[in-house]
Amino acid sequence: MSAGSSPSYVIIGSGVFGASTALHLIRAHPDADVTLVDRDAHDAPTRVAASWDWNKVVRADYADILYTKLALEAQALWRTDPIWKPFYHESGVVWISRTSFAKDVVANHAALGAGAKLGAYPVEEARKMYGGLLDGADYTGVQEVLVNRGSGWAEAKEALQSTIEAAMGLGVRYVTAEVTGVRLEGDGSRRQCRGVVTADGRTLSADRVVVCAGAYTPKLLVDSAPDWPDLHAGERILASGITEATAPLSHEDRPILDTMPVCCNVNPVERGEEVGCLPLPALHAFKCWGQVHFRNTITHPVTGQSLSAPPLKRDYAQWEVSPALRDDVQWALRSVFGDRKSNLAHLKMENHRICWDAWTPTEDFIVSPHSACDGLFIATCGSFHGFKFLPVIGKYVVAMLAGELDPVWREKWAWDRERPPVGRRGEFARHELKDWLSAGQDD
Ligand SMILES: Cc1cc2nc3c(=O)[nH]c(=O)nc-3n(C[C@H](O)[C@H](O)[C@H](O)COP(=O)(O)OP(=O)(O)OC[C@H]3O[C@@H](n4cnc5c(N)ncnc54)[C@H](O)[C@@H]3O)c2cc1C
Repeated sequence: MSAGSSPSYVIIGSGVFGASTALHLIRAHPDADVTLVDRDAHDAPTRVAASWDWNKVVRADYADILYTKLALEAQALWRTDPIWKPFYHESGVVWISRTSFAKDVVANHAALGAGAKLGAYPVEEARKMYGGLLDGADYTGVQEVLVNRGSGWAEAKEALQSTIEAAMGLGVRYVTAEVTGVRLEGDGSRRQCRGVVTADGRTLSADRVVVCAGAYTPKLLVDSAPDWPDLHAGERILASGITEATAPLSHEDRPILDTMPVCCNVNPVERGEEVGCLPLPALHAFKCWGQVHFRNTITHPVTGQSLSAPPLKRDYAQWEVSPALRDDVQWALRSVFGDRKSNLAHLKMENHRICWDAWTPTEDFIVSPHSACDGLFIATCGSFHGFKFLPVIGKYVVAMLAGELDPVWREKWAWDRERPPVGRRGEFARHELKDWLSAGQDD
């Protein structure tokens, strides 16, 4: 880096974190040399990124007031900015939970002066809303249901592509390549990152490397320096997956898509996490995700250590979904719409896909310098809720790169931070993918 000029950057991964970082970086430093590198072309018909999807929920409904505020900031741009506005749909969100979630969200919105369109409703009232669509849902043990008419969903892959194209329009260079490791100099307890190495033999040099590699981050760090454990993510990050699929609607059921909200049910917890269903008008369908969160434990070929990583195929084997995992998404549909009262619960699902994300034990992102390596920064770990922050997360990454991140976020998103001994939700992603490769099972 010459005196007075901006440092050069390589960003690994063009999902939400990488794309948003590239856009905000080039806006903040128009003359900077910014390269965004991903194994998939930005306009490929399908990609492995968690951020590539037909649709994603965009909501500011959080029990944590900091994420509520951050999501409200993002939502304001989803509503107004030409990069994202064409892809945002404010359908409303219904959130069924046994916890105090509904009350907490309402309180957060009230505290932030943003609560006009939401409420915590008794179950009997919620059953009647949206034409009784969720009358048959599983409400076991639920006191109040959150209904937020100011939340919605986004056309995910289109919004992601729009962000990348906006960044490229301002001068970001997009390179399609598989990164095999970050390039390190030095061999002591503190080293310097100088760029990345790609599978086709190229070296992309940079003063600063930002790793936004999602579920692939832990393996990439081990691959980069197998003999240097200080670089590795260890217990900080777990690569984990959920199954999703689309449910095409009959011609007569399609009008539901014009009025239905996003429907989430956190109630059926015996297998893992919440299930959900959201409109997908482009395919005349719903998209649903299942309850089983799983990991894929592999033995690292060099170090022999166990770590979770997406299957080591170029496309993460994301379209190879076993009958047992197909059952899981089918079951989600029944949980949301009720088994007996609605024919929607029995729609035949297709386009089954496993979506891999990087999860942290507190579900807080990592947006931080790497504590052992100069010039290396980590910005990822959406923990299954990162997509909605697409319009703003890069602004926070740029602040982190400048050493100007708000101390509250700096602590919450640090590489080195206090971790609970087990995940906040107990045994998160306790299932192993290999145990779900059989032909259908109850649990
Ligand atoms: C089923 C599912 C549903 C979800 N629903 C929602 C939702 O409704 N709302 C919401 O807000 N969030 C949701 N999320 C979470 C959200 O999608 C993720 O948190 C977010 O997309 C993660 O972004 P990322 O940039 O960290 O990772 P990714 O989007 O996974 O991007 C990582 C990128 O890095 C690239 N990469 C990795 N390794 C390499 C390498 N070695 N060389 C080159 N490129 C590499 C990959 O190709 C990929 O493009 C969901 C997640 C899943 C799995």
